[in-house]
Amino acid sequence: MFILRSKEQLQKAIERAKANRPRVSFKSFGRYVVTGASRDYSVTCERKNGVKLVACECIAGQYGSPCYHAAAALSLHVGLAAQRA
Ligand SMILES: [Zn+2]
Repeated sequence: MFILRSKEQLQKAIERAKANRPRVSFKSFGRYVVTGASRDYSVTCERKNGVKLVACECIAGQYGSPCYHAAAALSLHVGLAAQRA
């Protein structure tokens, strides 16, 4: 899990997401499943006390690194969040 502070933090992950083009499935608001290289990963995006928390099941995500699964899920999540606001 990592705390999303800026888009710059995600820059490398966004580039990897563009290269890998993972498929993002919507489960519910804040819960997504992203296709990975060898399996699918669940990604959760939530806001707690004004802090944006993003969690991915993959190894990088478990160690707190922004992975491309998270970047891919966030691109969908941010659009959905904007619609709800
Ligand atoms: Zn991941």
